[in-house]
Amino acid sequence: METVLETKGAFKAFEGFVAIRDVSIDLEKGEKHAIIGPNGAGKTTLFNLITGHLELDSGSVNFEGRDITGTPPHRIVKLGLARSFQRINIYPRMTVFENVQVALIARDGRSFHLFTLGHSLNRDETAELLELVGLMAEAEEVAGELAYGKQKQLELAIALASHPRVLLLDEPTAGMSTAETVEAIKLIEEITEARGLTLLFTEHDMGVVFGIADRISVLHHGELIFSGEPDRVKEDAEVRRVYLGESHGAA
Ligand code: ADP
Ligand code: MG
Repeated sequence: METVLETKGAFKAFEGFVAIRDVSIDLEKGEKHAIIGPNGAGKTTLFNLITGHLELDSGSVNFEGRDITGTPPHRIVKLGLARSFQRINIYPRMTVFENVQVALIARDGRSFHLFTLGHSLNRDETAELLELVGLMAEAEEVAGELAYGKQKQLELAIALASHPRVLLLDEPTAGMSTAETVEAIKLIEEITEARGLTLLFTEHDMGVVFGIADRISVLHHGELIFSGEPDRVKEDAEVRRVYLGESHGAA
């Protein structure tokens, strides 16, 4: 097994409040790894620490054999580690096409000007990405006016623009209807397969988690209390006690 991403002893506090305590997780090449845990468990914070959006107090992050602790987010993206955000992160006034085009222009290290858009820059690759996420028909629509589920598809295309090998998705189905969730997960699985990606994702829907994860890690109050195969997570006494057994319907 080849480890592509690893945190060691990750620790993060916000003004004395410990959000992530001594978390060491690893991601094996090609796996679909879910991070679960109640609201406030530290899932998003852990993502932010991995992708450089937050600085670690102590501990380290290693990506494909390289220590990326303290590396700024845009450099981490360039190395092949991309993410989506829990909250929608697109240019709402630009078209769908332009959103992806801008992501490609940024990847290539060019600055973009509005006059560049609409021109030939990266048109083929933009179309290819829109095709991949199923948004070709909406290419000329204003991004902010898309249905929520489609905005999430657009975010996926933007994340894929950097040609990542590892993709981090923070609650990719949050706010979606059941039907949208089913579609979104199908799409994520297809893309993961087609592009040979390694996936780390957080997800509140246990049906989704147990449906696609090869491995599940459980965070509780900032601590990693379990990491292992889906069959085993349900059997774990501590997980049952602190999480799956809680009465918020997550189990
Ligand atoms: P999750 O994604 O699992 O719901 P988060 O990582 O968003 O949890 O948050 C973990 C804890 O850290 C929460 O108690 C949250 O309020 C706190 N937290 C997250 N970000 C900040 C911040 N920038 N400043 C202060 N507290 C934060
Ligand atoms: Mg979160």
